[in-house]
Amino acid sequence: NSRWSLAGMTALVTGGTRGIGYAVVEELAELGAAIHTCSRNEPELNQRLQEWSGKGFTVTGSVCDLTSRPQRQQLLEKAASVFNGKLNILINNVGTNIRKPTTEYTAEEYSALMATNLEASYHMCQLAHPLLKASGVGSIVFISSVAGSIHITSGSIYGATKGAINQLTKNLACEWAKDNIRTNSVAPWYTRTSLVEHLLSNEEFLGRVVSRTPMRRVGEANEVSSLVAFLCLPAASYITGQTIAVDGGFSVNGF
Ligand code: NDP
Repeated sequence: NSRWSLAGMTALVTGGTRGIGYAVVEELAELGAAIHTCSRNEPELNQRLQEWSGKGFTVTGSVCDLTSRPQRQQLLEKAASVFNGKLNILINNVGTNIRKPTTEYTAEEYSALMATNLEASYHMCQLAHPLLKASGVGSIVFISSVAGSIHITSGSIYGATKGAINQLTKNLACEWAKDNIRTNSVAPWYTRTSLVEHLLSNEEFLGRVVSRTPMRRVGEANEVSSLVAFLCLPAASYITGQTIAVDGGFSVNGF
């Protein structure tokens, strides 16, 4: 059934070598999409591309530091040539964090978090817009966080970048609806990836996280990627401007 397939579609996934981005590449590929991804680490990227090719997935990749404006432009040029100028799906996944009390952040840390988590995704949307429009059916998904709508002691800059992503989701959904581009966000709570390994391996911290989570466990990357994939499917054709949590009930748990 073509409503539940991405066969024939093209996708650009940022940061596909580990964690949530990796799970998204696999999920979209299993549904039939051709994918271009990127990361900063060339050996790891090549290793992943080889594994995916072995699984029969159509995945290409570029080494790209997404905080660099010229490198973002090169990434889009590459994707445009691989996909003949047509892109159905853009997944803005790359994001990072530095955890500190607000009074301790330096100007450099502020700029670095803003650049990675907000500016890079914003510019990727600008660059991808003509390709998404040219494809006739476009879908953008941001990987936000529950930190974009709730204080979770992950640091105020991270929260501000993710809150901005949630609003950007609404603006682009309305502005680009006429181009048949839908825009949504997925907001995870703690998910087992390399980004938070150091936190979740601390038993005391993990215990506090789990005690606030009705489902009494953290999430897995493939529990986030399944929603990302759904939002890109023809089956989701009337869903736009939404931020949906994948959080085991955390964000609705008042007590
Ligand atoms: P990981 O750190 O595990 O993976 C990040 C991926 O992005 C890697 O492939 C990494 O490769 C790549 N990447 C990182 N920085 C850059 C960069 N500047 N340029 C290009 N590629 C880059 O992160 P997660 O999978 O955990 O996080 C993905 C998204 O999910 C982020 O936006 C994060 O904020 C969000 N999120 C994660 C949660 C969690 O608990 N894990 C919870 C809520 C939201 P490399 O480093 O080699 O470049």
